Amino acid sequence: MPAEASILDTLRRIVQEVSAARDLNDALETIVRRVKGSIRADVCSVYLTDFNTREHVLMATDGLRPEAVGKVRLPMFRGLVGLVCERAEPLNLDDAPAHERYLRVVETGETQYHGFLGAPIIQNRKVLGVLVVRQVERRCFEDDEVNLLLTLAAQLAGAITHAQASGEMFQPSDVTLHNRFLQGRPGANGVAIGDAVVVYPPADLGLVPDRKGEGPELELKGFEAALERAEQELLALKGHVGDSLPEEDRALFDAWIMMLRSDTLVDRVGELVGEGNWAPGALRQTIDEHARVFDAMDDIYLRERAADVRDLGRRILMHMQTDKPRITRYADRTILVGEEIGAVQLAEVPPEKLAGVISTSGSSSSHVAILARAMGIPAVMGVVDLPVSRMEGRQVILDGYQGRVYVSPPPAVLQEYERLAEEEQALTDELNGLRNQPSETTDGFHMPLYLNTGLVSEMSPLGIEEAEGVGLYRTEFPFMVRDRFPGETVQMANYRQVLETFHPRPVVLRTLDVGGDKPLPYFPVEESNPFLGWRGVRISLDHPEIFLTQVRAMLRAAVGLNNLQIMLPMISTVGEVDELLMLMRRAHDELVEEGYAVEMPRIGVMIEVPAAVWQAEALARRVEFLSVGTNDLTQYLLAVDRNNSRVGEIYDDLHPAVLRALVTVVEGAREYGRPVSVCGELAGNPLAVPLLLGMGVDSLSMSAGSLLRVKSVVRNTSRARARQLLQAALRMEEAYQVKRFMGAALEDLGLGGLVRPGK
Ligand code: PEP
Ligand code: MG
Repeated sequence: MPAEASILDTLRRIVQEVSAARDLNDALETIVRRVKGSIRADVCSVYLTDFNTREHVLMATDGLRPEAVGKVRLPMFRGLVGLVCERAEPLNLDDAPAHERYLRVVETGETQYHGFLGAPIIQNRKVLGVLVVRQVERRCFEDDEVNLLLTLAAQLAGAITHAQASGEMFQPSDVTLHNRFLQGRPGANGVAIGDAVVVYPPADLGLVPDRKGEGPELELKGFEAALERAEQELLALKGHVGDSLPEEDRALFDAWIMMLRSDTLVDRVGELVGEGNWAPGALRQTIDEHARVFDAMDDIYLRERAADVRDLGRRILMHMQTDKPRITRYADRTILVGEEIGAVQLAEVPPEKLAGVISTSGSSSSHVAILARAMGIPAVMGVVDLPVSRMEGRQVILDGYQGRVYVSPPPAVLQEYERLAEEEQALTDELNGLRNQPSETTDGFHMPLYLNTGLVSEMSPLGIEEAEGVGLYRTEFPFMVRDRFPGETVQMANYRQVLETFHPRPVVLRTLDVGGDKPLPYFPVEESNPFLGWRGVRISLDHPEIFLTQVRAMLRAAVGLNNLQIMLPMISTVGEVDELLMLMRRAHDELVEEGYAVEMPRIGVMIEVPAAVWQAEALARRVEFLSVGTNDLTQYLLAVDRNNSRVGEIYDDLHPAVLRALVTVVEGAREYGRPVSVCGELAGNPLAVPLLLGMGVDSLSMSAGSLLRVKSVVRNTSRARARQLLQAALRMEEAYQVKRFMGAALEDLGLGGLVRPGK
């Protein structure tokens, strides 16, 4: 057997070859050939399971008769291949024919083989097939060889799923494709059926080499002209998206134009050109440096901004290479498909033609997903297996609820989704009918619905008109997009705008909650456990000057409006609250001394840390309201990083422990008659709304897109029924049981369509 290093080496080489394969058959053939060679076996074969005909089908072989491929079909779970499949474990036998499950297959001429090693090909806990090596002599394979086979089988699993789902591979049976879908992540709710229009980056900046320029003057002249054209193009696009985007999102185009004209970009390109590089090379390096700053950030939202920077770079490059932008033809029902879709590419599609968005990268916090939600367009993100290059013109169904994509769906699936899409439309119309209706239960309890905002695109007209106020204004954003702490006046203008927009409705401004997953580019904090580290009020307490500036700006912004409330994030001890209250009073008194007519606002704390749950009473004694941040509370209760997709399945805000924590908070607050709000994502989840009502939560705060859905639940539930549902849910031990139970409860109320496709 080869030494350890060479096994790894072999593996690496095979994996590389397999990833470069043209299609699945090519990948299968590469594997059987290379495996047979590297472990010096007599035969290597791949069997795939056809779940419809319930057979294991020989799909590739090196060593057996080639004409047997596709013909040899073993009954499911029969023979040694069947045994590997059944047990989902490797099987290593030195004398296969002696095994009781041995099945003689004549077509392959395999009777003379003794040594047998089979490794299951598993994806998502499902055995898709078996990778087998055989030896004429008796041979027990070594551990390293077993591991090699298992590793390659795992590699193969991904390739098979990809190929089957996209319909590009030879199918064990055509029927297998039916009902198959590619799994991504929900980006924006809704169902869409349409034709794929693939968007490519306008030019590949990454491939631009360094090259000696024709002199700084000439190089920069071309660069300037390209900047000019890119700017014109962005301005035209901004005009073109017109009313289909909220004001704040249209402002994004200004931000891009500003970026385009920023000193950092222009000066850096100038500098590099001065050093002798040609302008495209200088641009590549500059954009790379910029994007890397964002890449390095832990916050997904900010990391996604790297894509904006690269998109901008490509646009400039395109204008340096040609003076005509490419024209894309959009289908009447365009499903925009791409590896990395920029917000600008989204905006390029005429709004009446845009039906949906599918991206192979990104998550629900990608900018394009945020925009899609703001525009009410269904979106699926992170569909890693989507064969983008073969998608143009293909019919696609996307299910934004479940993050699913069907490519070239069979008629039965299509019919089903056409029906669902019609129902979706009816549901949207019905929900729109709830605008301006009170958020009141059937037994007359008024549950105020507030808006979460603070990031661009959360201030949609719907949110502004529908919400009874702002329940959570995240103040981090203005801090994140600058290159230094914004001063009192800048902050004041920002807060004033929100306070005025919603006046006389209340607006809860949250003090700075940076750190954790929201670092500031100019305030670097290196920590091995940022979520357990220096974040939220912990930074405010260590830097009272930053906190005082912010509070002063908030108080001054509210002069004459008096609809301000202030909320403190990440509280873990009552001492923190006492100290911050003192600082806030100081800011107030100083402003009064300076002659400002400021008033002391209502102050509340967020319950996000488990310790605060069991001190809700002590906290309620100190402040005027509590607001539960279920996003953080869930991550701290379940010890699961809310941004880590590897443990994403464990993260569940309907976990019974989260529900019990909420009950404890409500009880604690009641001791002092303080209202409790929920402002985490849970508040916008229709499944959770009856439970929150049943607990006696006083208000809910959510993003604009959830307002009408939640209102629909409130208006169809009574508090009495909500309490019963809560009692039953509290007896459950697992999140999935709560979800199933609440799903059924919504179906009973005729509201199932709020949490799944259809009405
Ligand atoms: C929360 O943690 O639930 C919350 C609302 O705050 P953020 O998502 O901004 O951390
Ligand atoms: Mg939080």
